[in-house]
Amino acid sequence: MYSDIEFKMLQHGHRKKYKIINPSKPMLMVLKELSKLKVEDSSIRKSTLKDSLKDSEDFMKSHFNIHKIPCQTADGLRNFISARKDLSVSEMLNEYNEFGIETDPYKLPISLENQDFWYGRIGELGINYAIEEFLVKAKVIFSEIFLSEKMTNVTPRIISHEVTHSQLNSRKGSIQSYYNYEVLSIFIEYLHSIECDSSSKEFNLEKTLRYLSIAEDIMLLEEYNKKSTIVSPRNAVIHTMYLESEMKAIQLLEIYLQANPQIKKYILDYIQKIFDNEKTVEELLERFNITLEESSNYLKNKIFIKEKRG
Ligand SMILES: [Zn+2]
Repeated sequence: MYSDIEFKMLQHGHRKKYKIINPSKPMLMVLKELSKLKVEDSSIRKSTLKDSLKDSEDFMKSHFNIHKIPCQTADGLRNFISARKDLSVSEMLNEYNEFGIETDPYKLPISLENQDFWYGRIGELGINYAIEEFLVKAKVIFSEIFLSEKMTNVTPRIISHEVTHSQLNSRKGSIQSYYNYEVLSIFIEYLHSIECDSSSKEFNLEKTLRYLSIAEDIMLLEEYNKKSTIVSPRNAVIHTMYLESEMKAIQLLEIYLQANPQIKKYILDYIQKIFDNEKTVEELLERFNITLEESSNYLKNKIFIKEKRG
């Protein structure tokens, strides 16, 4: 039923397991508060693609050793496959794993789309070759980064987010559970905002966008659990992944912000080890006791303490 998600899980080396969150009491309390938020237009500034790429590259490369990733175009893939129709799975696998050209993620082609200004995703070549053995062993080959054509001060963070995906998805099994798929991308997006923003206006904008997204995920999952037909089972799995990742990323960020310089360095070094395939996202989360339950209680307290202070 969830075949496209299942293929991605195999390709990225996630454990094959589904669950759908039934929003808990703390989450529903959070939903009520977050739904009141509004995006402040005054914190959005125009930007250019060139500046945004440079901003993101400077930020990412000042903290991390970014590895090259295999890249090819969708046309290249079509030609590749049509020339190899008669190969066995293992022959195909060998050739496919040599097919991508090692590329700096900042040199990937960029495709601009007519979407909301915070939109972004990284293109991976789907291999219309739905054979488990192939998906499990094939390299992930990237094609491009998709961004909104509306370039703003949020665009550099979106690029950092997508480049983080490139570093993780090119290391099969670096994220063991699909439900942690977005944790580090969101954490790094936040970190980028905090470090490069002297006014904290941009960080607040970033936070508002994330909180609204959390509110939407909770609302739709509540609908799903009430047997509403507006949310399909496939989309409930995706909303679960986003909700779980968003809440854990917020908890990780808070731990980071309150930590002393040694612990901060430890966290960034740990992320580098995940990019280098020596550690997994789950090991990092476990190290700091970041779980779904902890992070939803945590978010609830954070929202309500802030409320009381006005
Ligand atoms: Zn993402």
